[in-house]
Amino acid sequence: MARVLFINGGSEGHINPTIGVVEELISRGEEVVYFAIEDFRERLEKTGATVRTFDGQKFIKAFISGGRNYLLERINGLLRTADIVIPSVLEQIEGEHFDYIIHDSMFGCGYLLAKILKLPAINSCTSFAQSEASFDKMMEQHFKTIPTEIVHEFQGLTEKIKEKYDVEIDSPYEVFCNPAPLTIVYTTREFQPFSEAFDQTYKFVGPSISSRLTIEDFDLSEIKGTSLLYISLGTVFNQAINFYKLCFQAFGNTDHTIVMSIGEKIQLADLGEIPANFIVKHYVPQTEVLKYTKLFITHGGMNSTHEGFYFGVPLIVIPQSADQPIIAEQVAQIGAGIRLKMEGLSANQLSEAVDYVLSHNSVHKAVASIRESFQKSGGYHQAVDEIFEFKRQYNL
Ligand code: UDP
Repeated sequence: MARVLFINGGSEGHINPTIGVVEELISRGEEVVYFAIEDFRERLEKTGATVRTFDGQKFIKAFISGGRNYLLERINGLLRTADIVIPSVLEQIEGEHFDYIIHDSMFGCGYLLAKILKLPAINSCTSFAQSEASFDKMMEQHFKTIPTEIVHEFQGLTEKIKEKYDVEIDSPYEVFCNPAPLTIVYTTREFQPFSEAFDQTYKFVGPSISSRLTIEDFDLSEIKGTSLLYISLGTVFNQAINFYKLCFQAFGNTDHTIVMSIGEKIQLADLGEIPANFIVKHYVPQTEVLKYTKLFITHGGMNSTHEGFYFGVPLIVIPQSADQPIIAEQVAQIGAGIRLKMEGLSANQLSEAVDYVLSHNSVHKAVASIRESFQKSGGYHQAVDEIFEFKRQYNL
């Protein structure tokens, strides 16, 4: 048995794929101490991990205060979270021994913590993997357009980190992608763009979808056997009242049943009258709903995309932010759905897109093929096999 330090941040998308991994690690005898923000305590404790938290509000505030217009601003935001996460983690694990660390590929300053604690590290990558070469190339272009004060801020933040924690940061890549000797990527090589760029230290284990331990307040019998469309913009970029109203216009009073998840930030009352064929909730048991869904209108979050395909559902992707445009492009590229732009979207476009996807056999064929690659992949079982292989290499 080994003691594992698991470091993550505070969003569903980065936490959900790790749930099965942690359960599997624990079932094979590992002891896991999992750091995230308080909101995820209950879900993580159900895995059997010991859950410890850092201040979620300060964490998100620090991240956002970096700015959102330029990629380097987000990287600065990640660096700003160091002072929220690192002292808190170090204090809470003082005097304890860990054998290795698993950290998120973006949040939680895992790369830094691995260096500070001198622990063998595994990167848990919940989006597409990004190679250092392609990231550096992108940054090279990016540096030509960024205001110099943002570059100076990056330099200032890395200097402070060197002073405080005695860790050198050599490039934005180390902050944004948290590289490690082993990277677990929760997709397949078939779906990963430019997958040939990744060597054997990247393990593409496929989607890590575990059954949710609680089925939230949702009556599945209402949707079984209906012509079901499911609409969700995920848990982060979902404040889109006009979009939800547009969906009412496009699909209200049709033969479809529509489940629409609107997130926690807006009120049902803000949506006005809800058509009778809509079931609108703040949050739904998505992986259950998808089992009965004909078509998924999604923002193209990595998890939603995986979950849709895993259950054989074609997608209409309307990307909002972050990695979603890249994911939307890849979905369109493999022909398993289509991409729409939020800007200027009309009800007519939405209903035409649905008709197109539902009536084109080529889309269903492409979905069947990616579904097969997902279902054949090992998911969290394979992730843990790879982690145990890593342990053997490091004599842990
Ligand atoms: N999710 C859910 N119910 C909802 C909305 C979202 O269970 O009503 C889950 C979904 O299954 C997925 C995650 O939240 O696992 C969202 O992650 P994703 O990467 O798709 O998007 P993000 O929320 O990070 O933008």
